[in-house]
Amino acid sequence: MTARTHDEFAFASLVTVAAFYPPAALNLFTFVVSLVGNIVGALIPDMDQAGNRLWDLLPGGDALGRVFRRMFYKHRTITHSLLGLFLIYHGLQWLLPKIVNAGVVDPQVVFFSVMIGHISHLLADGITKEGLPLFFPLPFEIGFPPLQALRITTDSWVETYLVQPGIAVYLI
Ligand SMILES: [Zn+2]
Repeated sequence: MTARTHDEFAFASLVTVAAFYPPAALNLFTFVVSLVGNIVGALIPDMDQAGNRLWDLLPGGDALGRVFRRMFYKHRTITHSLLGLFLIYHGLQWLLPKIVNAGVVDPQVVFFSVMIGHISHLLADGITKEGLPLFFPLPFEIGFPPLQALRITTDSWVETYLVQPGIAVYLI
């Protein structure tokens, strides 16, 4: 899936979860940081690609991205797996309370927003032809539906003209 679809799908997932489990209290700062965190979470898995938008946001990110990408022998490995999810989960639990001022922003709400973004990315990639190496380092991909021919081709007309508008309609 393209970054744009991931952004949209992450936001739709966040709104859906928030509708079923509304946070007890939500101030403006938490709201804004959560929205940004949701998008960051949705883009983290594709940081194994140099062209990822998160790299563009960092100074010198293009060069960094090119170096970083060499760590991965191909696109979609650990960042699209349960192992990666586990590492992000614990990494964020450790990091967020250290960088977020808990007096102003609720770190738990931000944490869940990032995780929802991340998980939505894996779900979205799971319906593409490339599939998802969910059990990395075990060398096989899974996808839905299991028959690869029925899945979506990344950046195809189906994604641009059916999936993206479909998410927008769902949001409304
Ligand atoms: Zn991806």
